Amino acid sequence: RADAAMYAAKAAGRDRVHFFDRFMGQGAKSRLVLLEDMRAGLRENAFFLDYQPQFDLQTGNIFGAEALVRWQHPELGLLPPSEFIPHAEETGLVVELGQWVLEEACRQNKRWQSEGLGPLLVGVNVSARQFWDGDLVGQVRAAVQAAGISGEYLELEITESLLIRNRDVAIATMSELRDFGVKLAIDDFGTGYSSLAALKHLPLTRLKIDRIFTGDISSECSIMQAIITLGKELGLSVIAEGIEEEAQVHALRRFGCDEGQGFHLGRPMRADQFTKCLAGQRLQRTVNVPDYSI
Ligand code: C2E
Ligand code: MG
Ligand code: MG
Ligand code: MG
Repeated sequence: RADAAMYAAKAAGRDRVHFFDRFMGQGAKSRLVLLEDMRAGLRENAFFLDYQPQFDLQTGNIFGAEALVRWQHPELGLLPPSEFIPHAEETGLVVELGQWVLEEACRQNKRWQSEGLGPLLVGVNVSARQFWDGDLVGQVRAAVQAAGISGEYLELEITESLLIRNRDVAIATMSELRDFGVKLAIDDFGTGYSSLAALKHLPLTRLKIDRIFTGDISSECSIMQAIITLGKELGLSVIAEGIEEEAQVHALRRFGCDEGQGFHLGRPMRADQFTKCLAGQRLQRTVNVPDYSI
């Protein structure tokens, strides 16, 4: 428990918002301005997605990407999600923003498939408000169908804390999404308060282990190892977030972790840059394993 509290506090601390605080400090008028700015941003295509590659740690191949939203604000410049997602969440605009993220991520995934660079698993972060107040199942169905991809190429990332509100209803929603083929991951796993045993009844496909554990991998190897082992025992794939050093890759492989994501392996990047990475990987594969059947 003490450990869980410490990790939760660390995770909350690093997500501290700056611009948001500044804005809030200026009172109600500024909140409205920010909300209006976000609405305008949605209308004027000022939001865009970066993609961070996800790697198979055995083969070194990219198998997927996490879509991460950014906002090119007309006056404030490029804003990371920590600067506006909390406000979008508070005002409910995150439902609309989240819908756009889903649509764009699916469209981009379809582009990669059409260019012969797939199949790729693209992960999208889902906020609590979007899960509970919006019609998430409807949003997902619409995004997948509009893009013309199969649901199995979309992964939704949700957090443990989101599930607390009503576990049974959450499971029902998740099951509906799974029926649609969509994959479901727990994001930042280990920083919430749920135990691994509590995961057993959730229709999940993957655990994303919080980067705090990756960062502490030498001192906290027993926690990392326990999460990996038990996650796999539950039949889930396990991905380590926040890999910043090669030594962590080696430790993770030793612990039987199949997948990884982090600055050391690949930073979040624009879609066109990601396309180049995928094309490079394909080229490398063709060189290494010549296919004479063509
Ligand atoms: P997250 O879902 O846990 O995403 C991972 C965050 O960790 C990203 O920050 C990514 O850039 C960063 N990261 C990746 N590898 C490393 C590493 O090796 N070291 C370190 N120190 N950081 C790493 P980003 O893009 O600023 O996103 C922050 C959070 O904002 C996300 O955390 C997610 O909770 C939220 N977010 C991002 N996009 C969306 C979105 O479209 N919708 C919603 N609702 N939330 C989003
Ligand atoms: Mg995420
Ligand atoms: Mg995460
Ligand atoms: Mg996070």
